[in-house]
Amino acid sequence: MSAGGAGRRAKDTGRRRILVTNDDGIYSEGIKLLAAALSEIADVVVVAPDREQSATSHSLTLHRPLRIRKLEESWWAVDGTPTDCVNLAVLHLCKDDKPVLIASGINFGSNLGDDVTYSGTVSATFEGTLLGIPSLAFSQQVGEHFSFEGGAAFARRMVEEVFAAEEVPADLLLNVNFPSGRFTGVEFTRLGRRVYQQTVVEKLDPRGRKYYWIAGTPEWKEESGTDFAAIDAGRVSITPLHLDLTDYRGLEGFGPLHQRLARLATAGAGPEAAVGGGGGRDVGDEAP
Ligand code: MN
Repeated sequence: MSAGGAGRRAKDTGRRRILVTNDDGIYSEGIKLLAAALSEIADVVVVAPDREQSATSHSLTLHRPLRIRKLEESWWAVDGTPTDCVNLAVLHLCKDDKPVLIASGINFGSNLGDDVTYSGTVSATFEGTLLGIPSLAFSQQVGEHFSFEGGAAFARRMVEEVFAAEEVPADLLLNVNFPSGRFTGVEFTRLGRRVYQQTVVEKLDPRGRKYYWIAGTPEWKEESGTDFAAIDAGRVSITPLHLDLTDYRGLEGFGPLHQRLARLATAGAGPEAAVGGGGGRDVGDEAP
Protein backbone atom coordinates (compact mmCIF):
# COMPACT_ATOMS: atom_id res chain seq x y z
CA MET A 1 0.00 0.00 0.00
CA SER A 2 1.33 3.43 -0.78
CA ALA A 3 -0.98 6.28 0.20
CA GLY A 4 -1.71 7.35 3.74
CA GLY A 5 1.82 6.75 4.93
CA ALA A 6 0.85 3.12 5.42
CA GLY A 7 4.02 1.94 3.72
CA ARG A 8 6.09 3.12 6.70
CA ARG A 9 7.34 0.49 9.05
CA ALA A 10 7.96 0.58 12.76
CA LYS A 11 11.61 1.10 13.61
CA ASP A 12 12.07 -1.60 16.23
CA THR A 13 10.39 -4.62 14.75
CA GLY A 14 10.41 -3.85 11.05
CA ARG A 15 6.67 -4.35 11.21
CA ARG A 16 3.97 -1.77 10.57
CA ARG A 17 2.72 0.02 13.63
CA ILE A 18 -0.99 -0.15 14.53
CA LEU A 19 -2.67 1.92 17.21
CA VAL A 20 -5.39 -0.01 19.03
CA THR A 21 -7.99 1.85 21.08
CA ASN A 22 -11.61 1.42 22.15
CA ASP A 23 -14.40 2.94 24.22
CA ASP A 24 -15.08 0.01 26.59
CA GLY A 25 -11.85 0.73 28.44
CA ILE A 26 -8.37 -0.73 28.40
CA TYR A 27 -9.32 -3.62 30.72
CA SER A 28 -12.11 -4.91 28.47
CA GLU A 29 -11.96 -8.30 26.83
CA GLY A 30 -12.54 -7.00 23.30
CA ILE A 31 -9.43 -4.80 23.20
CA LYS A 32 -7.23 -7.53 24.64
CA LEU A 33 -8.25 -10.00 21.93
CA LEU A 34 -7.97 -7.38 19.15
CA ALA A 35 -4.51 -6.30 20.29
CA ALA A 36 -3.36 -9.91 20.61
CA ALA A 37 -4.63 -10.82 17.13
CA LEU A 38 -3.04 -7.78 15.47
CA SER A 39 0.24 -8.31 17.36
CA GLU A 40 0.73 -11.42 15.24
CA ILE A 41 1.17 -9.24 12.15
CA ALA A 42 2.12 -5.76 13.38
CA ASP A 43 3.79 -3.64 16.03
CA VAL A 44 0.78 -2.86 18.23
CA VAL A 45 0.53 0.12 20.56
CA VAL A 46 -2.53 0.25 22.82
CA VAL A 47 -3.74 3.64 24.05
CA ALA A 48 -7.23 3.40 25.52
CA PRO A 49 -9.49 4.93 28.18
CA ASP A 50 -8.85 3.81 31.76
CA ARG A 51 -12.60 3.12 32.17
CA GLU A 52 -15.70 2.63 30.08
CA GLN A 53 -16.35 5.55 27.73
CA SER A 54 -19.16 4.08 25.62
CA ALA A 55 -21.55 6.57 23.98
CA THR A 56 -19.11 9.44 24.53
CA SER A 57 -19.28 10.10 20.81
CA HIS A 58 -16.55 12.32 19.31
CA SER A 59 -15.94 14.12 22.58
CA LEU A 60 -12.61 15.84 23.19
CA THR A 61 -11.41 16.85 26.67
CA LEU A 62 -10.28 20.47 26.67
CA HIS A 63 -11.19 21.80 30.13
CA ARG A 64 -9.07 19.65 32.43
CA PRO A 65 -5.64 18.07 32.23
CA LEU A 66 -5.29 14.53 30.88
CA ARG A 67 -3.16 11.84 32.55
CA ILE A 68 -1.42 8.93 30.86
CA ARG A 69 -0.50 5.81 32.80
CA LYS A 70 1.80 3.13 31.38
CA LEU A 71 0.41 -0.30 32.32
CA GLU A 72 3.02 -2.40 30.53
CA GLU A 73 5.21 -2.14 27.43
CA SER A 74 3.14 -0.52 24.64
CA TRP A 75 -0.03 -0.34 26.80
CA TRP A 76 -1.14 3.12 27.94
CA ALA A 77 -4.28 4.06 29.88
CA VAL A 78 -5.71 7.57 29.56
CA ASP A 79 -8.29 9.20 31.85
CA GLY A 80 -10.16 10.54 28.84
CA THR A 81 -12.28 9.67 25.83
CA PRO A 82 -11.38 7.52 22.80
CA THR A 83 -10.81 10.74 20.82
CA ASP A 84 -8.41 11.96 23.51
CA CYS A 85 -6.57 8.63 23.28
CA VAL A 86 -6.09 8.89 19.51
CA ASN A 87 -4.73 12.42 19.84
CA LEU A 88 -2.35 11.57 22.68
CA ALA A 89 -1.16 8.47 20.83
CA VAL A 90 -0.60 10.01 17.40
CA LEU A 91 0.56 13.48 18.45
CA HIS A 92 2.53 12.57 21.56
CA LEU A 93 3.28 8.94 22.50
CA CYS A 94 3.94 7.80 18.91
CA LYS A 95 4.88 11.14 17.39
CA ASP A 96 8.28 9.93 16.19
CA ASP A 97 6.96 6.68 14.77
CA LYS A 98 3.33 7.19 13.91
CA PRO A 99 0.87 4.33 13.42
CA VAL A 100 -0.03 3.54 9.82
CA LEU A 101 -3.42 2.18 10.86
CA ILE A 102 -5.86 2.63 13.74
CA ALA A 103 -8.07 -0.22 14.96
CA SER A 104 -10.83 0.54 17.46
CA GLY A 105 -12.66 -2.14 19.43
CA ILE A 106 -13.69 -4.79 19.58
CA ASN A 107 -16.73 -3.13 21.08
CA PHE A 108 -19.07 -5.13 23.31
CA GLY A 109 -22.24 -4.60 21.29
CA SER A 110 -22.89 -3.61 17.70
CA ASN A 111 -22.58 -0.04 16.35
CA LEU A 112 -25.12 0.14 13.56
CA GLY A 113 -27.06 2.72 11.60
CA ASP A 114 -27.89 6.02 13.27
CA ASP A 115 -26.24 4.84 16.48
CA VAL A 116 -22.74 5.35 15.04
CA THR A 117 -23.09 9.03 15.94
CA TYR A 118 -23.12 8.09 19.65
CA SER A 119 -20.32 5.61 19.37
CA GLY A 120 -16.95 6.21 21.00
CA THR A 121 -15.62 3.16 19.12
CA VAL A 122 -16.47 4.72 15.75
CA SER A 123 -15.49 8.24 16.81
CA ALA A 124 -11.96 7.07 17.53
CA THR A 125 -11.78 6.18 13.83
CA PHE A 126 -13.25 9.54 12.84
CA GLU A 127 -10.37 11.12 14.74
CA GLY A 128 -7.93 8.77 13.04
CA THR A 129 -9.00 9.85 9.57
CA LEU A 130 -8.92 13.51 10.66
CA LEU A 131 -5.26 12.88 11.51
CA GLY A 132 -4.73 11.26 8.11
CA ILE A 133 -4.52 7.64 9.26
CA PRO A 134 -6.69 4.86 7.76
CA SER A 135 -8.96 3.56 10.52
CA LEU A 136 -11.13 0.53 11.21
CA ALA A 137 -13.85 0.22 13.87
CA PHE A 138 -14.82 -3.26 15.09
CA SER A 139 -17.96 -4.10 17.07
CA GLN A 140 -19.38 -7.44 18.17
CA GLN A 141 -23.11 -8.03 18.34
CA VAL A 142 -24.23 -9.42 21.68
CA GLY A 143 -26.43 -12.49 21.38
CA GLU A 144 -26.45 -16.26 21.33
CA HIS A 145 -22.97 -17.87 21.04
CA PHE A 146 -21.33 -14.52 21.84
CA SER A 147 -17.56 -14.48 21.43
CA PHE A 148 -14.84 -12.00 20.46
CA GLU A 149 -12.68 -14.79 19.01
CA GLY A 150 -14.14 -14.86 15.51
CA GLY A 151 -14.07 -11.08 15.22
CA ALA A 152 -10.45 -10.85 16.39
CA ALA A 153 -9.35 -13.45 13.83
CA PHE A 154 -11.33 -11.68 11.10
CA ALA A 155 -9.80 -8.33 12.08
CA ARG A 156 -6.29 -9.75 11.72
CA ARG A 157 -7.01 -11.16 8.26
CA MET A 158 -8.75 -7.94 7.23
CA VAL A 159 -5.75 -5.83 8.27
CA GLU A 160 -3.49 -8.17 6.29
CA GLU A 161 -5.68 -7.53 3.24
CA VAL A 162 -5.55 -3.76 3.82
CA PHE A 163 -1.76 -3.91 4.12
CA ALA A 164 -1.57 -5.97 0.93
CA ALA A 165 -3.65 -3.48 -1.05
CA GLU A 166 -1.90 -1.44 -3.74
CA GLU A 167 -3.48 1.79 -2.67
CA VAL A 168 -5.19 2.64 0.61
CA PRO A 169 -6.77 6.07 0.89
CA ALA A 170 -5.61 8.02 3.94
CA ASP A 171 -9.24 8.69 4.78
CA LEU A 172 -10.24 5.02 4.68
CA LEU A 173 -12.80 4.53 7.44
CA LEU A 174 -14.60 1.22 7.72
CA ASN A 175 -17.20 0.42 10.36
CA VAL A 176 -17.13 -3.35 10.85
CA ASN A 177 -19.81 -5.21 12.80
CA PHE A 178 -19.65 -8.93 13.63
CA PRO A 179 -22.84 -10.95 14.11
CA SER A 180 -23.06 -13.15 17.18
CA GLY A 181 -22.53 -16.78 16.31
CA ARG A 182 -21.02 -18.14 13.11
CA PHE A 183 -20.31 -15.70 10.25
CA THR A 184 -22.24 -16.67 7.10
CA GLY A 185 -20.62 -14.09 4.81
CA VAL A 186 -19.29 -10.56 4.41
CA GLU A 187 -21.32 -7.68 3.05
CA PHE A 188 -20.55 -4.06 2.23
CA THR A 189 -23.49 -2.11 3.58
CA ARG A 190 -24.98 1.32 4.11
CA LEU A 191 -26.10 2.61 7.50
CA GLY A 192 -29.59 1.47 8.51
CA ARG A 193 -32.20 3.68 10.11
CA ARG A 194 -33.22 3.42 13.70
CA VAL A 195 -36.89 3.54 14.61
CA TYR A 196 -36.87 6.12 17.34
CA GLN A 197 -38.20 4.45 20.50
CA GLN A 198 -36.32 6.32 23.18
CA THR A 199 -38.15 7.23 26.36
CA VAL A 200 -37.20 9.11 29.49
CA VAL A 201 -37.98 7.26 32.72
CA GLU A 202 -38.58 9.39 35.79
CA LYS A 203 -37.94 7.88 39.26
CA LEU A 204 -37.45 9.06 42.81
CA ASP A 205 -34.16 8.65 44.65
CA PRO A 206 -34.05 7.58 48.35
CA ARG A 207 -34.21 11.25 49.38
CA GLY A 208 -37.37 11.85 47.38
CA ARG A 209 -35.73 13.80 44.56
CA LYS A 210 -36.48 13.04 40.95
CA TYR A 211 -33.90 11.49 38.65
CA TYR A 212 -34.05 10.45 35.02
CA TRP A 213 -32.85 7.59 32.88
CA ILE A 214 -32.79 7.55 29.07
CA ALA A 215 -34.25 4.18 28.13
CA GLY A 216 -35.97 2.27 25.36
CA THR A 217 -35.30 -0.73 23.17
CA PRO A 218 -33.72 0.15 19.84
CA GLU A 219 -35.61 -1.07 16.80
CA TRP A 220 -34.66 -0.84 13.17
CA LYS A 221 -36.29 -0.28 9.85
CA GLU A 222 -36.09 -3.51 7.88
CA GLU A 223 -34.34 -2.61 4.62
CA SER A 224 -32.00 -4.71 2.51
CA GLY A 225 -28.48 -3.46 1.93
CA THR A 226 -28.17 -2.02 5.43
CA ASP A 227 -25.70 -2.92 8.15
CA PHE A 228 -28.60 -4.06 10.30
CA ALA A 229 -29.91 -6.48 7.65
CA ALA A 230 -26.43 -7.98 7.13
CA ILE A 231 -25.95 -8.63 10.85
CA ASP A 232 -29.46 -10.05 11.06
CA ALA A 233 -28.52 -12.55 8.34
CA GLY A 234 -25.36 -13.54 10.21
CA ARG A 235 -23.02 -11.70 7.86
CA VAL A 236 -20.09 -9.46 8.79
CA SER A 237 -21.15 -5.91 7.92
CA ILE A 238 -18.60 -3.44 6.55
CA THR A 239 -19.82 0.14 6.11
CA PRO A 240 -17.49 2.72 4.56
CA LEU A 241 -18.00 6.02 6.37
CA HIS A 242 -16.82 9.58 5.88
CA LEU A 243 -16.92 12.71 7.97
CA ASP A 244 -18.64 14.92 5.41
CA LEU A 245 -22.10 15.25 6.95
CA THR A 246 -23.33 17.53 4.16
CA ASP A 247 -26.80 16.63 2.93
CA TYR A 248 -26.15 16.96 -0.81
CA ARG A 249 -29.81 16.34 -1.69
CA GLY A 250 -30.70 19.10 0.76
CA LEU A 251 -28.39 21.51 -1.07
CA GLU A 252 -30.76 21.16 -4.03
CA GLY A 253 -34.03 20.27 -2.35
CA PHE A 254 -34.21 23.09 0.16
CA GLY A 255 -34.26 25.66 -2.69
CA PRO A 256 -37.44 27.56 -1.68
CA LEU A 257 -36.18 27.88 1.89
CA HIS A 258 -32.82 29.04 0.54
CA GLN A 259 -34.53 31.78 -1.47
CA ARG A 260 -36.45 32.99 1.59
CA LEU A 261 -33.31 32.96 3.73
CA ALA A 262 -31.33 34.78 1.00
CA ARG A 263 -33.78 37.68 1.37
CA LEU A 264 -32.58 38.09 4.96
CA ALA A 265 -29.22 39.29 3.69
CA THR A 266 -30.46 41.39 0.80
CA ALA A 267 -33.02 43.01 3.11
CA GLY A 268 -30.15 44.30 5.23
CA ALA A 269 -30.33 41.90 8.18
CA GLY A 270 -27.12 41.22 10.09
CA PRO A 271 -25.14 42.88 12.85
CA GLU A 272 -25.13 46.42 11.38
CA ALA A 273 -28.84 46.32 10.64
CA ALA A 274 -29.60 45.00 14.11
CA VAL A 275 -27.64 47.81 15.78
CA GLY A 276 -28.71 50.57 13.47
CA GLY A 277 -32.31 49.48 12.96
CA GLY A 278 -33.66 50.45 9.56
CA GLY A 279 -33.60 47.70 6.93
CA GLY A 280 -34.87 44.17 7.26
CA ARG A 281 -38.22 45.03 8.80
CA ASP A 282 -40.12 43.25 6.06
CA VAL A 283 -38.62 39.94 7.18
CA GLY A 284 -38.42 40.65 10.91
CA ASP A 285 -42.09 41.59 11.10
CA GLU A 286 -43.04 37.94 10.91
CA ALA A 287 -41.04 37.10 14.05
CA PRO A 288 -43.01 36.68 17.28
MN1 MN B 1 -18.49 0.54 23.99
